[in-house]
Amino acid sequence: MRILIVEDEKRIAEGVNKILKNAGYEVDTVYDGLDGLDYILSGLYDLILLDIMLPKINGIDVLKNARAEGITTPVIMLTAKFQSEDIINGLDAGADDYLTKPFDAGELLARIRTRTRKTCALKADKTEAYDICLEKSTYKLHGKEKSIKLAKKEYQLLEYLMINKGKILQRDSLIAKLWGFDEEPEYNNLDVYISFLRKKLKYIESKARITTTKGIGYALEQGE
Ligand code: CA
Repeated sequence: MRILIVEDEKRIAEGVNKILKNAGYEVDTVYDGLDGLDYILSGLYDLILLDIMLPKINGIDVLKNARAEGITTPVIMLTAKFQSEDIINGLDAGADDYLTKPFDAGELLARIRTRTRKTCALKADKTEAYDICLEKSTYKLHGKEKSIKLAKKEYQLLEYLMINKGKILQRDSLIAKLWGFDEEPEYNNLDVYISFLRKKLKYIESKARITTTKGIGYALEQGE
């Protein structure tokens, strides 16, 4: 998870940088609106912390420009106290949330967790079923709280199950889907991938379950 900080007050920027790095995030920091916009447009970030009062281009205009360019990355605005007009302008410009300075580390991290959970919901290249979401560009499987990366075959298998959720898919059609008709997969491989996927669904605490119908195949279903 990569976060961009756009903040001209060095003391705050460095403090936030340290908090985020300690929490395990990868972090880049820039100190004015022009660099901020450049970095945001790279599309490399999962979340952006954006100050409002910035040299060169202010945070509201940075955000408006980024949204106009199609950037959907979640943005948390950093605002000084008693600037409710800024908060309204920020939300109107497409901010997802705001934090009033000074804020503490716990609040900052909680807001970041809330916003990054929605990452998949904003992507155009997603497949959704029940409480899970699959992202094509990254092979990431997202649950409500956690995400995990899938291998290519796992991705293909789960995507097929998600598109056909609730239906039993025959072993032969799953094998043909994954390995084609030419390759000769070991028959057990399918079961191995199913078992990997079950573990990963469990890890992200999803309620979706892959059920087995003996002698026939598998289905993705909603657990209780
Ligand atoms: Ca500032």
